[in-house]
Amino acid sequence: MQKDQLLERLDRLERQLYAYRYAMGLMEYDSETAAPLLSAAGRGEALALLSEVEYRLTAGPETAELLAALEQIAPALTVQQAAQLRELQKAYDRNSKVPQEEYTAYSRLLTLAQPAWRQAKQNDDFDAFAPYLRQIVETNIRFAGYYAPGRDPYDTWLDQYEPGMTRAQLDEFFEALRREIVPLVQRITAEGASIDDRWAVQGDWPLEGQKQLARRVMDRMGIDPARCALGETEHPFTTNFSRDDVRITTHYYPENLLSSLYSVIHEGGHALYELNTAPRLAGTCLATGASMGMHESQSRLYENLIGRSRAFADVLWQDITACFPAQTAGRTAEDFWKAANKAQPSLIRTEADELTYCLHIMVRYELEKQLFDRTLTVEELPAAWNARMEEYLGVKVPNNAQGVLQDVHWAGGSFGYFPSYALGSAYGAQILDAMRRQLDVDALTARGELAPITAWLTDRIYQYGAERTPAWLLENACGAPFDPTFYTRYLKEKFTALYGLG
Ligand SMILES: [Zn+2]
Repeated sequence: MQKDQLLERLDRLERQLYAYRYAMGLMEYDSETAAPLLSAAGRGEALALLSEVEYRLTAGPETAELLAALEQIAPALTVQQAAQLRELQKAYDRNSKVPQEEYTAYSRLLTLAQPAWRQAKQNDDFDAFAPYLRQIVETNIRFAGYYAPGRDPYDTWLDQYEPGMTRAQLDEFFEALRREIVPLVQRITAEGASIDDRWAVQGDWPLEGQKQLARRVMDRMGIDPARCALGETEHPFTTNFSRDDVRITTHYYPENLLSSLYSVIHEGGHALYELNTAPRLAGTCLATGASMGMHESQSRLYENLIGRSRAFADVLWQDITACFPAQTAGRTAEDFWKAANKAQPSLIRTEADELTYCLHIMVRYELEKQLFDRTLTVEELPAAWNARMEEYLGVKVPNNAQGVLQDVHWAGGSFGYFPSYALGSAYGAQILDAMRRQLDVDALTARGELAPITAWLTDRIYQYGAERTPAWLLENACGAPFDPTFYTRYLKEKFTALYGLG
């Protein structure tokens, strides 16, 4: 077949996938935000049918033949076409290498595991969930063997979320955290250093004011309301259907000023990435972020590195006092900055502060590796969890509901996913360091001028979408490969100053 014809077929396949994914994504978003309770069954039926078609489009014989033919003319493809081929091939491999009946059995297992996990967490009954978890781990190890025979199964799963990342690199990264951050947390705890944040998290912050604040902050970030809408869900998230249709969500708590504010900034960072992929990528599988870690680097860069900086606290404080004149009387931007940065070891990952968060991820990373190496059994998991929480964070875990059962990820079959959260923070610190060499970031953020920051990120990262690998993007933005010391140095400098540890 001629090159032109192949490229036409590639284009047609991409446009079909785009349409199906748009429809399914919108239905899922609607189910989280607006759909009435009894709509679930009918929607489930429609989604099953649509995903069947999507499955055929990614893993059917016609696609196999097209991908093989494109591979034959690979040297003649542009960078973008080659990246499209790479991503489609990855989706094909994911869907076609596992025998159909095993794939179906695994889907069924996950469908049962989710409510079993929820119930087990509610009843603090790990034993009730253990049989599901055992099967999920075994299946993940077996599937990794189908994807990449002979390769370390945990590396294979890491690669699914963070292409190119290996446990050798992560071991080095987490080793740096263990060496530098665990003692810092111990020092803060031992000094009894404390910040009063009760006024901010246990106050009276009417939702109308919080909604107004969210809109102001999105404006500050340069998020175009004509292309990005804000919704409300139990857990905040970002989803995108096209570069002109991005949805972010938040959760307003009437007593807590900080929770929704920083959710909006975090999800806003994800949104800026999606909103600024190059128009040429529109409608292809490349019109999205490069990886979980790279995406998380952008949300955390805005949420923590900029959003929780001293310079930006003054700007946010102007917006907060405008929305809540009565509640903020007698308080200062300095009070707000301290409250927003309070660090305190705690049990729950999703409620952890910027400093201790990465240690929660370290606990999960080490246990996942051991489960995959079979040096730890599922039965031994709760005790191993509790021991590490005490060692790294100095907290005693009172029950499994607040311990090993707290996250949904393992029940959903996601192993190798957690590290991307911590990697994102570390990428973010390295990227910010590179940005500082070219922009006066503090002066810009102190004036509330974020546009040059977003433009810098668009130029070096956003525009490429998923066309380039995370390693390529880091190199492009920073002129150097991944180096975790930027992150540990950033945390040490920030929190020793904040707590006056000298
Ligand atoms: Zn995120």
